[in-house]
Amino acid sequence: MGNGRDTFFWEDCWIGDRPLAAVFPRLAALERNRSCTVADRRGVDGWTWEWQRPLEGRSRTRYDEMMHVLADFCCTEASDGWRWMLGTDDGFTVRETRRWIDDRVLPVGLIQTRWCDLVPRKVNIFIWRMQWQRIPTRMALSGRGLEILTIVCPICGISVENIEHLFGRCEVAASIWGLVFRWLQLPYRSVVEPDDLFRWVDECRMTGNSEESP
Ligand SMILES: [Zn+2]
Repeated sequence: MGNGRDTFFWEDCWIGDRPLAAVFPRLAALERNRSCTVADRRGVDGWTWEWQRPLEGRSRTRYDEMMHVLADFCCTEASDGWRWMLGTDDGFTVRETRRWIDDRVLPVGLIQTRWCDLVPRKVNIFIWRMQWQRIPTRMALSGRGLEILTIVCPICGISVENIEHLFGRCEVAASIWGLVFRWLQLPYRSVVEPDDLFRWVDECRMTGNSEESP
């Protein structure tokens, strides 16, 4: 903040971490000129106001609170400038911005990323996508607004094609799991959904070069 001539008093984020209109909406609603700058309100002898009507009751209380916030403010003769608020003093960085977006966009849960060196990378990535429900099944595509003729499983034609069906409940998937268990010379175990398989692998305490990372 410099001289306040290029900063909107109510709408810009210039003191605290939110615009004053968001912190004190009642006062902002009573402002006669919502587009005023900080310089407009900061007179030579102190703050000057243009309220639509005298402040009373709660409005007066909010006003006192706002004055408490404004008490520490001091302006300079320099021009106003922008400052990047995310984390560092170095100004804008792609790294901090990416981290900020990730924190808000990426799903957070208890699912650990499984990575096994025994299978190709694309298989690991496929499993990772499956755990996060990111396989483009007909159900998922429909959910994202794509116009598809049907969401029924194209393999069996009976149920909706979602991840649980495609990798577990579908009769074709079940028969393939049967063959896999026979190939591994293990007793058959029904796989209702992919999580069953992950739990089973954990119970087996399989060893090898596999590892888990958070
Ligand atoms: Zn099916």
